[in-house]
Amino acid sequence: MKDSYYITTPIYYANDVLHIGHTYTTVAADIITRWKKNSVNNVFFLTGSDEHGSKICEAAKEKNKEPLAYCNEIVDSFKNTWQQLNIEYTSFIRTTDTVHILTVEKFIQALYDNGDIYKSNYEGLYCVPCEKFLSPTELVNDLCPDHNTKPVKQCEENYFFRLSKYRDQLIELITNKNHLQHFDILPEQRRNEVLGKLKLGLDDISISRTNLPWAIPLPFDKSQTIYVWIDALLNYISAIGYADDSEKTQFKKFWPADVHLLAKDILWFHSVIWPAMLLALKLPLPAKVFSHGFFTVEGQKMSKTIGNVLHAEDLVKIYGVDATRFLLLTAFPFGSDGDISLALFKEKYNAHLANNIGNFVSRVTNMAQKYFNGKVTIPENWPDPEITEILKILEPADTHISNVRVDSFIEIMISLSSWGNLYIDKNAPWQLAKTDMKALEKVLYNALIIIKYIAVLSSAVMPESAVKIWKTIDEKQDIQECARNLAKLSPLTGSNVNKPEILFPKIL
Ligand SMILES: [Zn+2]
Repeated sequence: MKDSYYITTPIYYANDVLHIGHTYTTVAADIITRWKKNSVNNVFFLTGSDEHGSKICEAAKEKNKEPLAYCNEIVDSFKNTWQQLNIEYTSFIRTTDTVHILTVEKFIQALYDNGDIYKSNYEGLYCVPCEKFLSPTELVNDLCPDHNTKPVKQCEENYFFRLSKYRDQLIELITNKNHLQHFDILPEQRRNEVLGKLKLGLDDISISRTNLPWAIPLPFDKSQTIYVWIDALLNYISAIGYADDSEKTQFKKFWPADVHLLAKDILWFHSVIWPAMLLALKLPLPAKVFSHGFFTVEGQKMSKTIGNVLHAEDLVKIYGVDATRFLLLTAFPFGSDGDISLALFKEKYNAHLANNIGNFVSRVTNMAQKYFNGKVTIPENWPDPEITEILKILEPADTHISNVRVDSFIEIMISLSSWGNLYIDKNAPWQLAKTDMKALEKVLYNALIIIKYIAVLSSAVMPESAVKIWKTIDEKQDIQECARNLAKLSPLTGSNVNKPEILFPKIL
């Protein structure tokens, strides 16, 4: 097994600041990254910015700026957002980075030398905001369904990539789970959609444009530039040094990617065009692409015209960073479509964070203070069968992360806390305090163990809260070591339970 893990988000288009949709994908990748780091030595988490194309030119012109100067500002805002949300990416790739441009040139030249690129006429309906040609079947009332604008007819002599040549091979790699190079598309429903479309046929695609200056010129014909999507997809290998011989080890260490995370609107590029490009150069395919759903805000599609575009910063102001990460990823099942409602966020915040997890940590640590001055010692014959029950709750944690089910992973934390609250109610420590101090100490010790494991899971989801909890229970164990060994409960290693900080104050 390779001791590395490589996860990517899409590189986000630098024509505007980020909204909550980008945050959704990136927080999910961050949670997976943080958890994987517990058991894998080399984890690479890539995000970045997609900076070429006509939309960038237009946005820059509107602000009276040169495209690159415009992008520099947008990139700063991206990085700022990620910092605010505690996103620990390994690298941030820009498609204007020299290393990226060199990679694109090298790759496209290799495709050309291979005979996989040829010149031909192209006529089609092009949606400028989408940066792509739309097929007539994709249009709704002659309009682009995503932008409600009429695509323009474009005809030009372009270079084409022999996409059709790789159709059968792709179908085989997607369907044959026993194939060494099996390429997984998740969730399953999306895989079926892609396969269905592939089986209908696959046309070659145009990969160059004639009148688009803000893009990378084709290395073998400088009169044309490379289609932004082809340029953008190559970020996944340019960032790990595909073009740089001296850094080849990075590429060797991390490629193929374990997961490309993305939203469903760009699944086709990632599940068909990108793997076909890799197949053409005999490069291994990523293990999986996972496409999450779309969401509406208060039942409506987010749009500038409606004025309901939600930014992560808005949520952080109300809930703080940790709770924002938690609420976003538990709003609806990861992989499905859903809705984000601020009223529901508040309800969930109070139910799961304030009343469940926050309350559990505070009531248990307060009792440890009250009855034992914070010094709760390990019971005889620990772990007892009562507490080992929680192993069943913890057991699927790694699987959920490997399957990119971030929502199910977070559910474990909630279940653990609910279990703990029930355990306290059932054992009524306030009664035991009058009759059996030894039994009381055991109950509190076990409850503190549950808190410890809530912190362990929280280290991936709500990192700041994890640190606070760890301090409160005075844990000395390395939290990653504890996370690595979820199959066996680790005892408490601290000597003094402290007074807790309020983790999640109730929001009225
Ligand atoms: Zn469009």
